[in-house]
Amino acid sequence: MQFKKSIITAAAALAFGAASASLFAAPVTAEGTGVGKHGDLTVAVTFDNGRIQDIKVVSSKENPILAKKVFTELKDTIIAANSTDLDMISGATFSSKGLIDAVNDAAKKAGVTLGKADKKAVKKAAKALPKNATYDVVVIGAGGAGFSAAITAKAAGANVVLLEKMPTVGGNSLISGAEMNVAGNWVQPKLGITDDSAELHAKDTFKGGDGKGDMKVINVMTHNALDAAKWCRDYLKVNFEADNLFFFGGHSRKRALIPFGHTGTEFITKFQAKADELGIPVITNMKAEELIKDKDGRVTGVKATMNGEEYTFNAKGGIVLATGGFGANKEMVKKYNPKIDERFKTTDAPGTTGEALYMAERAGAELVNMGYIQTYPICDPISGVIELIADARFDGAVLLNQEGKRFVEELQRRDVISHAILDQTGGYCWVLWNDNIGKISNTVKEHANEYEAFTKQGIMTTCDDLKCVADFTKMPFDQLQATVNRVNSMTGKGNDKDFNHRAGLMDLSQGKYYVVKAVPSTHHTMGGVRINEKAEVVTKDGKTIPGLWAAGEVTGVTHGTNRLGGNAYTDIIVFGRIAGAAAAAAAK
Ligand code: ADP
Repeated sequence: MQFKKSIITAAAALAFGAASASLFAAPVTAEGTGVGKHGDLTVAVTFDNGRIQDIKVVSSKENPILAKKVFTELKDTIIAANSTDLDMISGATFSSKGLIDAVNDAAKKAGVTLGKADKKAVKKAAKALPKNATYDVVVIGAGGAGFSAAITAKAAGANVVLLEKMPTVGGNSLISGAEMNVAGNWVQPKLGITDDSAELHAKDTFKGGDGKGDMKVINVMTHNALDAAKWCRDYLKVNFEADNLFFFGGHSRKRALIPFGHTGTEFITKFQAKADELGIPVITNMKAEELIKDKDGRVTGVKATMNGEEYTFNAKGGIVLATGGFGANKEMVKKYNPKIDERFKTTDAPGTTGEALYMAERAGAELVNMGYIQTYPICDPISGVIELIADARFDGAVLLNQEGKRFVEELQRRDVISHAILDQTGGYCWVLWNDNIGKISNTVKEHANEYEAFTKQGIMTTCDDLKCVADFTKMPFDQLQATVNRVNSMTGKGNDKDFNHRAGLMDLSQGKYYVVKAVPSTHHTMGGVRINEKAEVVTKDGKTIPGLWAAGEVTGVTHGTNRLGGNAYTDIIVFGRIAGAAAAAAAK
């Protein structure tokens, strides 16, 4: 038990037999611990006359973005209600439980009994929002595109609000690997890459999407990528790995910058910090329902709902739609692409349900390329989320079927690999790599949480030799050994006679070996609202809709049939900034 000064004072007084009522009235602080999503969560709670006065988080391993509301809203409500008998924050239930348990523990240690929640006090603690408010720019959707737009608009002097339907911000941008393709970036020369260009990046993007993307829009993305990345690095203070890049399938050069931690947390944390610094209100649990147009057809606002109550946000300059895709909406996925059926899980954040696409359509936007839905080939067979640990594939991990054979080039396009996997026995594959590859990728260390979770779930193991790999996966050992021998005989660029591995196979002769089971999941919806190169939303007749811009996964003309890895972050930041700047300029 650890008490802070005040309780020690009270306890010392007790020890001297001075237990008078006035002494009990002195505020006491006790520490308590609960278990959150990522481990112990410790708080220091100050009580005065049996009422909670303050809660301070002493230590926590929770994701600062996903748990933000727990440490603000839920914490404030616990204080206001003097109770932990409260609802969890949806989307952050484990962190909520961790906080509640920690406060209960502290109360027990301080000898305080907390009662039922005072409903009136809880209601009073909820912030009152005006039912009708006017801003220069209203941005809908707090993922990477929305934050980029809101921050750019605010920095340009506009009065901005950012609306998010979920309890937490980040969308798919948060859970993404968040690599960002930038031709001519500052890391490339360190790796000897001096012949990349925005033109080449545009060509790869167009080709990767089977020529269905809009080359004008693609060119804007690739030519503004470096500036966007510098904005992230220098203005937002996003940390990128200094000496390492990702080489995604379909790219002719290694060009993807890698954020620290290899996930979108680095970006979203910095986006949120900048939004806080600039004073941009980010209203969560606020779902945009209907765009408002004036008599001339200009979009002038949006009707939104929170807990069933309607709110109107008027926009003098305009609206930026940044609501992401629809990969988590099974019905919508099947409607637009019946081939992506029940066998597919999804990698997507739960808010990726696409109703806002219909909202845009009702306002006149053309929806294009809706049937092009990307599956991510290497995902957790239990939850559907991307196995970032298996990114060792980009550095030479091989894909094996249940028979122990390779069946596809590991750096093929995602759609090609996904369908190849579904054609194998059981519709899954195994990803195998060793320390030789691991020392470049380092994914086991980078994604320690996944490593622990997958190992516990029984879909991953670590072995000293191939016999152990065969025993775990139940692959025939002789075939596994033969496949690995063949891989070892074809290492190096240009030597893979079987599947033409474009970066070159790596030697797999020595352990430790890492092997994880994987299935494809719905990942990115390429289709969406048609935009032009200024991020303006376009109608079926090719006219722009005044007052309406869109950026990110909600748009449908950049990636054609298939988005190349690392292009989502480039897309959301480039077009988020363009849309935010244009909407801010329109308000002047
Ligand atoms: P992008 O990568 O294009 O930024 P994300 O998926 O990262 O897309 O972010 C989109 C965000 O928009 C998600 O957080 C999602 O919950 C939110 N969103 C989707 N529809 C609505 C809506 N109708 N109103 C408010 N927010 C929405």
